[in-house]
Amino acid sequence: MKPKKHFGRKDGCLRCGRKRGIVRRYGLHVCRQCFREVAMDLGFRKYQ
Ligand SMILES: [Zn+2]
Repeated sequence: MKPKKHFGRKDGCLRCGRKRGIVRRYGLHVCRQCFREVAMDLGFRKYQ
């Protein structure tokens, strides 16, 4: 893990606060549902 940014809460999705299905890719820390939305915004379409 590379501490690029220090988030207020390390546990849970950064968007909705959900603690299940957290995806820690691309420096993100969001749940799978939010990750889909964020990924689309960022241009990632590999992950569904
Ligand atoms: Zn979420």
